[in-house]
Amino acid sequence: MSTAMADTATDAAEQEPRTFESLNPATGDVVGVHAIDDEATVREAVRRARADAAWWDELGFDGRREILGKWRGVIARRMGELAAVVHDETGKPHADAQLEIGLTVDHLAWAAGHARKVLGPTKSFAGLLMANQSAVVEHRPLGVIGVIGPWNYPVFTPMGSIAYALAAGNCVVFKPSELTPGVGEWLAASLREVVPDRALLQVVTGLGETGAALCTAGVDKLAFTGSTETGKKVMAACAQTLTPVIVEAGGKDALLVDEDADVASAADAAAWGAFSNAGQTCIGVERVYVHERVYDSFVDALVARAQNVHPGGGPGAHYGPATLPKQLDLIRGHIDDALASGGRALVGGEGAVGDRFVQPTVLVDVPEDRPANTDETFGPTITVKKVASMDEAVRLANATRYGLGSTVFSKAHGTEIARRLRCGMTAVNDVISFAAIPSLPFGGVGDSGFGRIHGPDGLREFTYAKAIASRRIKPVMLLTTFDRTAKQDSTFAQLITVMHGRATTMQRPAAVVSRLRRSR
Ligand code: NDP
Repeated sequence: MSTAMADTATDAAEQEPRTFESLNPATGDVVGVHAIDDEATVREAVRRARADAAWWDELGFDGRREILGKWRGVIARRMGELAAVVHDETGKPHADAQLEIGLTVDHLAWAAGHARKVLGPTKSFAGLLMANQSAVVEHRPLGVIGVIGPWNYPVFTPMGSIAYALAAGNCVVFKPSELTPGVGEWLAASLREVVPDRALLQVVTGLGETGAALCTAGVDKLAFTGSTETGKKVMAACAQTLTPVIVEAGGKDALLVDEDADVASAADAAAWGAFSNAGQTCIGVERVYVHERVYDSFVDALVARAQNVHPGGGPGAHYGPATLPKQLDLIRGHIDDALASGGRALVGGEGAVGDRFVQPTVLVDVPEDRPANTDETFGPTITVKKVASMDEAVRLANATRYGLGSTVFSKAHGTEIARRLRCGMTAVNDVISFAAIPSLPFGGVGDSGFGRIHGPDGLREFTYAKAIASRRIKPVMLLTTFDRTAKQDSTFAQLITVMHGRATTMQRPAAVVSRLRRSR
């Protein structure tokens, strides 16, 4: 081929839009074909979002609430349609897809309904020195938020950022996982039905490189949810443009069972927390620490439960396939290593990992330093360990680099034990409940990331605090002038001494004034 012909072929290849397929993980069938958006396309989306951000901000809390309310209605009415897309792209049962969509709609309602109260102007006491001022803080939208999401809960998880960012007055550019691009596109299209001519929520599709492009495309904040490893890459990329980030990453959540716990409920919660969604839940239960007095009855109940949980692709299945095929090797590796290092499988175990589906696996006697206890498995497996006390259980539960969620079953000491667990959320006598309560913050510590979505913190996360101090009346003593006299400086020094010199606690203004009078 001549050089000219080769150049033409290269040009043609460069101009051809690049695409990728999303697959049904249960069957391998192609669900859809999507564009691999390049850096220029991502930048253009951010530019469009910025152009509409001022309009969205000026609409105010009530205007936004009305639009987000209509959007909520569209999603709720067409829940079955969206659940079908989720089912096709992730393999999870329809009922589970519907569950995550229903909870998402509830979050959207809360975010839109509470934005004014949380973010609107709030007066505060200006302090004794500046008593002539009115002090107001309000939370202003940042502008354009980039959201990068995972595949395991492709509606609920990214919407934990998207709904709150929109309610706070920002426009959003969303990069869904390459496994669930159709879900992302459905969400954006459903909001366009309500607001056709504004770029409130745009979706860019592609592989990791499209996500990387979003990090440096000029967004005002990047909300990332995914693995700890990718979270580090996202943070490094965002550092180039000093773009602030939220990282919602993985976990190795523990469930603790006290000696007075309702054992049947604890076993039921452990089974659902570990096996539902094929164990592909960031706040799924991966480890259990059980008081020795109830250990045997708990293990019996958990085994009985696990033996009746079945994966599959059809109706009646409790959970679907592993959505990410390469995860199968990691799950198999954790189980094999656990068995090779002294662990025993009471359910599942060797041979539990098939071509697409993983059988529920209950492991006991696994040393604490093995990957099944230290690393995120993200499969339907659970380890159970006997402990002598809840002190030991708390120590072992906290001995992890992660710190996302946890669960405690205890009648007398649930809250007390919850407080001692180093993680962002704890469910007491229930499992994963905190994620479904819109008013509660959601996020982790350590390798589980930082920043909070959901609740008032989740709204504030997508804003900046704006302080406004206004002079109400002429001050008795103006501090910010070159005309200050020596007498005023001396009065000021006296005032500070009286206010703070002997104080151990905050002084009441009237008490300070009367002491100042006495000291003169
Ligand atoms: P990944 O970290 O593999 O991917 C997450 C997202 O990041 C995807 O959209 C991915 O795109 C994108 N991405 C990949 N590389 C880059 C890059 N270099 N720069 C920017 N973006 C990039 O996670 P998974 O999708 O596999 O999700 C599973 C993980 O998510 C688990 O660890 C789970 O615990 C965690 N998770 C955490 C939650 C929380 O709230 N804390 C909630 C849900 C899940 P692509 O798919 O195209 O590669």
